[in-house]
Amino acid sequence: DMPLSNLGAIDAAHHLHPFSDMKKLNAAGTRIIQRGEGVHIFDNHGRKYLDGFAGLWCVNVGYGRKEIAEAAYRQMQELPYYNTFFGTTTAPATLLAEKIASHTGDKLNRVFFTNSGSEANDTWFRMARVYWKALGKPTKTQVIARKNAYHGSTVAGASLGGMKLMHEQGNLPIEGISHINQPYWYAEGGDLSPADFGLKVARELEEKIDELGEDNVAAFVAEPIQGAGGVIIPPDTYWPEIARICRERNILLVCDEVICGFGRLGSWFGHQHYGVEPDLAPIAKGLSSGYLPIGGVLVSDRVAEVMVEELGGFYHGFTYSGHPVCAAAALENLRIIEEEGLVERVRDDIGPYFAQAWKSLEDHEVVGEAESVGLIGGLQLAADKSTRRRYSSPDDVGTLVRNHCLDNGLVMRATDDRMLASPALIIARSEVDEMVDTLRKGLDHLRDTVRE
Ligand code: PLP
Repeated sequence: DMPLSNLGAIDAAHHLHPFSDMKKLNAAGTRIIQRGEGVHIFDNHGRKYLDGFAGLWCVNVGYGRKEIAEAAYRQMQELPYYNTFFGTTTAPATLLAEKIASHTGDKLNRVFFTNSGSEANDTWFRMARVYWKALGKPTKTQVIARKNAYHGSTVAGASLGGMKLMHEQGNLPIEGISHINQPYWYAEGGDLSPADFGLKVARELEEKIDELGEDNVAAFVAEPIQGAGGVIIPPDTYWPEIARICRERNILLVCDEVICGFGRLGSWFGHQHYGVEPDLAPIAKGLSSGYLPIGGVLVSDRVAEVMVEELGGFYHGFTYSGHPVCAAAALENLRIIEEEGLVERVRDDIGPYFAQAWKSLEDHEVVGEAESVGLIGGLQLAADKSTRRRYSSPDDVGTLVRNHCLDNGLVMRATDDRMLASPALIIARSEVDEMVDTLRKGLDHLRDTVRE
C-alpha cells in the first residue's frame, strides 16, 4: 500500500500544482482523491463526494468504467505505441477519426490528433494561418478571440484565452491576437434586452474586423458556451450573427468544443446546438472522458482540401498524435456514449430535468439567474437581484459557496460570483436533486453570512 498518511507532506515538498495558490494549499493540505464510481469520488479518508463537475468538465461517462480500462489494457499489450508520422497509422487512431467524423455533420470530415485541448488550440492556430498563406493570402494572420475566454495553457492557448492573470504571467498575448467582449448579459448587458445585447456583442466582431482590415484577419474563435469563464450562455441572437459575419467577411470560424463537445449540451458538439458550422474545432476532454489524455482538431473539407492539395505537408505534430492506447480508450468511450444513448439522454431526459431543478434556485434571494443547456449550468450570485447588483468581492462569495458545498460532500466550481455545474452525463435524477439541495444550503450560508 502507498503511504497515504504522509502523502500531504510529500506533496507539499515536491509537487507544484496547476492553478493553485501553493502557499495556501500547503497550509490547508491537499485533498487526496483515491477512487471513483459513477458520479462519485472518494478521498483517502473514505469520504464520498458527488462530483458536480465531472473532474474538469471531462468525465462524461462517469467514473469506474471497466470496459475503457480493458480496451486500453488490450491495446497496450498488443501495441503500446506507434506514431502517425511519415505515412504510418494504427487501427485505433484511424478508426477513432472515422468515429468522430460520423457525428460531426457534413463538413467536418477530418481529425488532426493532439494530446490535449491546449495543443488542439495551438494546432488550429497554425492551421488557420497556413490555410490562408496556401491560398495566396499571407497577410491574413490575425486572430480574434474573446475576453475572459479559456483556450488552454500553452503560449498560443493562453494568448487566445482572455484571462488577465494568465496574460500577466509570461508577457502574453503574443502578437496577432485581439479580444472582444463575451455575451455576459447579466453583468454587462445594462438596459438592453438579452436578445439586443447578443446582437451588439456579436457585432463587435465586425467592428474589430474593420479595425484590423479584413485582409489581415484569419479567424475568430469562441466556445459555443464559455465554460471556465463562468458558463456564459449566449442569447439566441448571438451565434447566428457571429456565423453571418464570419461568412460575409471571409474569416474562419473556430468553435472550441473542448468542454461543449461529446454530449454536454445534449448534442454531439456544441455548435450543433446553436445551428452553426465551424471551419475548425478543437476537441479534448469528453473525447476520452478523461480516462487518458487525447485531443484533436476537427477540420472542415474547406480547410482540409487546401492542406491536402496545396500544402505539401503540415510541419506540425506530436510524438503521441493519435496514440493507439489513448485512441483505443477514446473509441470505447464513444461506443459507450452511443450505446447508452447519452447524448439523447441529455437532450430529452436528464437535461430538461436538470434545467428545471437548476432554474428553481432562481427563487433564492442571492441568485440573480440560474441558466443551463443540457448538463452545463451557470448560476449568478447577486447582492441585490432586483437591480442585478453584484457583490463587491465576487471571488470571495463564489469561494464561500463552493467551500460550503465541498464541506457537505458536493464538488462545485466557482468563477468569481458564478457557480458552475457540469456533472457526468449519467447522473441520476436523485443525484441532480441532491446536488441542487446541497447548493441551496450553500446559498443560504452566503445569505446568512454576507450582507451588502
Ligand atoms: N479549451 C477549453 C474551452 C477548455 O476548457 C480547456 C480546458 O479546460 C482547454 C481548451 C485546454 O485543454 P487542456 O487542459 O486539455 O489542455
